[in-house]
Amino acid sequence: MKKIGWIGTGVMGKSMCIHILKNGYPLSVYNRTKEKAGELCKEGAAWLATPGDVAAASDVTFTMVGEPADVEQVILGKGGVLARSRPGSVIVDMTTSEPSLARRIYEEAKGKSVSSLDAPVSGGDIGAREGTLAIMAGGDEEAFKRVLPVFELMGKNIAYMGGPGMGQHTKMSNQIVIAAAMVGVVESLLYARRAGLDLDAVIDIIGKGAASSWCLNQLGRRIVKGDFAPGFYIRHFVKDMGIALLEARRMKLSLPGLALANQFYIAAMAEGLETEGTQALYKVLDRLNRP
Ligand code: NAP
Repeated sequence: MKKIGWIGTGVMGKSMCIHILKNGYPLSVYNRTKEKAGELCKEGAAWLATPGDVAAASDVTFTMVGEPADVEQVILGKGGVLARSRPGSVIVDMTTSEPSLARRIYEEAKGKSVSSLDAPVSGGDIGAREGTLAIMAGGDEEAFKRVLPVFELMGKNIAYMGGPGMGQHTKMSNQIVIAAAMVGVVESLLYARRAGLDLDAVIDIIGKGAASSWCLNQLGRRIVKGDFAPGFYIRHFVKDMGIALLEARRMKLSLPGLALANQFYIAAMAEGLETEGTQALYKVLDRLNRP
């Protein structure tokens, strides 16, 4: 795994690439908006003109784009990553995307003697910056073992979860927890404020007890500061909950807690908050409670 390619240098991708560069791997990059790869190029990454060009130059090509439609276009599109990948190389999609798309990519890649992993992450913008992400991978274990040294540059908690699509299913399990947790964090802080408490003091004490969570300790603090910048975009979270609800319906599984959280976040989209961080759910429930 000498030459690495990376497509999608947004909030997450950019920070993950920095770790790869700092560890001396040759890295070529592509992003829809070229300027967002500028800092990486200054650090030594090579800019290539298309996703296909990146794949053709790489032993392993990572994608960290936004939505499943972007993954499909970049990997399976005409002249895209798979079309230009060399036999024996590996494609690793780290976008939070659909398990069914991961399986399709795996099958099409196999037909070209290319390996494919779905390897979404958890740990947020901070985890990406600090190289402490949780990485949950699906695909062939042999391919996972080959890519593991690169995963170890970006993450601290890395697991092989099973065949193609199982990384994405694991990420959906993660998002189902987060959905309910975010409603809980927001309601807890609204309650504490109405009761006249100091919100930071509340997080100081309950954030170390049984109510402790990343959502409370990281995003709860941002709410108290009035910092609603992303982090993790609301529009991406709505995408994730949509995938989880669709998969659950296919499994004939009723998840009313997830469905309720999804409705609150759709209300946030209706209020024009889609490019704010997921903690901006606070604004929706705050408005609901105005006298
Ligand atoms: P982001 O900042 O929007 O980054 C995505 C990048 O991919 C953007 O720079 C975008 O280009 C690029 N891109 C999208 N479609 C493309 C295409 N067709 N061709 C080339 N480049 C394309 O989003 P992010 O926060 O890094 O999230 C990326 C993924 O990770 C999402 O699936 C998200 O759900 C997941 N995730 C995010 C977090 C988090 O905390 N942020 C945590 C875990 C997982 P432009 O610059 O032109 O838009």
